[in-house]
Amino acid sequence: MDDDDLHARLKAYEGCPAAVAGTGRDPVNVPMIRHWCEAMGDRNPAYTGLGAIAPPTMLQAWIMRGLGGLGGGDDPAAQATQGRAQAYDELLTLLDGAGCTAVVATDCEQEYLRPLRPGDEVAFDTVIESVSPRKTTKLGAGYFVTTRTDVRVAGTLVGTHRFRILKYAPAKRTSRPREHRPRPVVNRDNAGFWEGVRDRRFLIQRCADCDTLRFPWLPGCNACGAAEWDVVEAGGAGTVFSYVVMHHPPFPAFSPPYAVGLIELAEGVRVISDVVDVPYDKVRVGMPVELEFRTYDDELTLPVFRAREGAV
Ligand code: ZN
Repeated sequence: MDDDDLHARLKAYEGCPAAVAGTGRDPVNVPMIRHWCEAMGDRNPAYTGLGAIAPPTMLQAWIMRGLGGLGGGDDPAAQATQGRAQAYDELLTLLDGAGCTAVVATDCEQEYLRPLRPGDEVAFDTVIESVSPRKTTKLGAGYFVTTRTDVRVAGTLVGTHRFRILKYAPAKRTSRPREHRPRPVVNRDNAGFWEGVRDRRFLIQRCADCDTLRFPWLPGCNACGAAEWDVVEAGGAGTVFSYVVMHHPPFPAFSPPYAVGLIELAEGVRVISDVVDVPYDKVRVGMPVELEFRTYDDELTLPVFRAREGAV
């Protein structure tokens, strides 16, 4: 079967169900909301007390299958709960048969139509939305499979959850040429930051409501929940707040050992980046550093930090 034949067979699954009439294992509930907020460090008052709503990003938490439903587990109750459909298994089996035996989750996109509240009983259907043509990636060649889950309460759509995986044939690891650095994942939430980097500006989001600065870029303010924001440009001064020295595992384009810094900018936000032009064993907590933009190849410029003069 050549690539075109395979892709035609894969595309035939677009629009087929991956899960039908699934139901959440538990209604939306206060204990799960509390655990989530504790784990995330989210103290938004909207998620506690009378009239509390669930954090919107918990959407998937309410529909996750239990361990009993993984890998075709034989717990009939769990199977029924997740509403699993055969078409998705068939699609994955077809890909396995074509040598695409490895899988990696690549990204997830959610939309929220109305908040979920304790007591809401969620139901969901998942459809195989698209299967990409064969793509060559650093991991190996394969196909991106996107599913869309519609989550409903009492028949009303409350949110959608799009999930994309790459099913691929692992690339052979021999005689690999020197690789480029990985590309940043640019999405709707962080595109403005990478536009700034192109202009050699390090832009920090600022909440339009409460002026709290935030980095990395997020769609809303963690302090007050407001969605509106503008940006301020970092002055470039910072200090090493913490760091690790990477020895293993080796990644293409990086030569261990090297130091990865958690840099605290003078503005107060923190960013993970390279500490450059400093031997890895000379990086220290508290070391003053300064922002610079370094071009790694034709398509990649990154903000990095070098030690201030006299700091080493
Ligand atoms: Zn705010």
